[in-house]
Amino acid sequence: MPKGNYYIPTPSNEPVLTYAPGTPERAALKEAVAAARKEQRDIPMYIGGEEVRTGNTLPMSPPYDHQHVLGHFHEGDASHVNQAIDAALAAKEDWENLGWEHRASIFLKAADLIAGPYRAKINAATMLSQSKNAFQAEIDAACEFIDFLRFNASFMQEVYMEQPESAPGIWNRLEYRPLEGFVFAITPFNFTAIAGNLPAAPALMGNTVVWKPSYTQIYSAQVIMEVFKEAGLPDGVINLIYVDGPVAGDVVFKHNDFAGLHFTGSTGVFKHLWKTIGENIDLYKTYPRIVGETGGKDFVVAHKSADAQEVATGLIRGAFEFQGQKCSAASRAYIPSNIWADVKGHMADALKEISMGSPEDFSNFVNAVIDKNAFNKIAKYIDQAKEDKDVDVIFGGNYDDSVGYFIEPTVLLAKDPKYTTMCEEIFGPVLTIYVYEPEEFEATLELVDSTSPYALTGAVFSKDRYAIELAAKKLKNSAGNFYINDKPTGAVVGQQPFGGARGSGTNDKAGAAMNLLRWVSARTIKETFVPPKSYRYPFLDKE
Ligand code: NAD
Repeated sequence: MPKGNYYIPTPSNEPVLTYAPGTPERAALKEAVAAARKEQRDIPMYIGGEEVRTGNTLPMSPPYDHQHVLGHFHEGDASHVNQAIDAALAAKEDWENLGWEHRASIFLKAADLIAGPYRAKINAATMLSQSKNAFQAEIDAACEFIDFLRFNASFMQEVYMEQPESAPGIWNRLEYRPLEGFVFAITPFNFTAIAGNLPAAPALMGNTVVWKPSYTQIYSAQVIMEVFKEAGLPDGVINLIYVDGPVAGDVVFKHNDFAGLHFTGSTGVFKHLWKTIGENIDLYKTYPRIVGETGGKDFVVAHKSADAQEVATGLIRGAFEFQGQKCSAASRAYIPSNIWADVKGHMADALKEISMGSPEDFSNFVNAVIDKNAFNKIAKYIDQAKEDKDVDVIFGGNYDDSVGYFIEPTVLLAKDPKYTTMCEEIFGPVLTIYVYEPEEFEATLELVDSTSPYALTGAVFSKDRYAIELAAKKLKNSAGNFYINDKPTGAVVGQQPFGGARGSGTNDKAGAAMNLLRWVSARTIKETFVPPKSYRYPFLDKE
């Protein structure tokens, strides 16, 4: 334990590099992508101190060039889940007894490694395996991940500093113990930063972790693990396994040392996991912590006073960056008829310019969606829209998977505000717009609130302060991250703590002290300096 009150260096957000032509970062990134393309990576699981190769290998390909093979990963089975749990439990005592400043140092070093020598490598891996353009990779794999690591170290200190009052003669203390058992981190394909943060945050607080990433993110997950190892993370603290979700769940959720789930992914999967945990509740030593950030059906609502150009820009960026595969992506919009023609015109201008293709060509704004399943699912919504009378395809609507999983940015105009694509999460570059009568603003806010089971992000555009106040009030439970005159995507760690409620998750705000509190179990210690020697209280004395 530290012999001094140390202070974590005050974090500030990692500056986003531009990747403009002629910059050193652009040259370094192009070189890293080219080098990775020439290589065939053989990716093991990491259990305890071992790199585990099962020989049961599966290929990894860029979604925008599915015939190219980047390498193979070694898939595990139930026995590897058990090994990973054993390794996590074996590492637990030493890790939780290590002074917190050393735990912080490891993750702060990891942040500096990503900011420096690993920046191009982790961004290149994210471009290649998740089909992000250079800018989308930079704001995710580099900047957001670095911010998570640096800010969380600082938030850990805030948590530890939260201490109770002490009356005269006693000293009250709160000890923030790690959970009793291991934490299971299940991560999604769409953010390298989230994949790294979900195991790292509980580990920072002294827990040991079994981490199961999405199969389509394993290529960049390995770079995360390389960084953690180089930063000095001891063996067994984070164990990375590639096992089919239900197979992993079947072992983990029946283990009596299972102490917490840190999940990001779709709502259906999270609900299923929650139910499984509930069914197994008698098996566990403690009530497991369940933290899940899940799906969204994120809205933009414009008031009649809104600037049409600003609304159109918010929609284009909010709906189509990273092909709409952000949980926060704008996917339904409510535009008043007085500005609709202008909004549509500005969107048409932008969409004419936007090019789609490989992220290796830096002029492409839109790239491929993650895999064949996603491609088929999104294409099905578009095909249905082409047939349905309640909706018109006004932009895009084409798709082609001959080289990569490319879907054009698509805008649907719904006549029915409850049309399927106004309600369901599509997780692709499809935006549905409903045009309303300007005087129906308040009724439209009620529609926004009641249309979908999700409540992740949402935005209002208006120049009228009364309208903004009304929207903020009426939509208070419709979004965990609410934007005024801005797109609903792009939350920055330390600035806009991120997470939603209702069907969108437990709203524990990733990258905030609130989240870290879920990974500790506080022990209250009361120490009395001069204990009483008689049971008698003064009121018992005779008058
Ligand atoms: P997904 O739900 O398909 O998969 C997420 C993870 O769960 C993967 O690792 C997957 O293998 C695993 N999994 C699936 N079934 C499982 C099971 N039965 N048992 C154990 N694990 C299982 O999600 P995805 O496609 O990777 O990511 C997209 C989803 O994530 C979208 O719904 C999106 O909105 C959501 N998301 C939410 C946030 C947020 O902060 N709210 C952030 C990113 C993504």
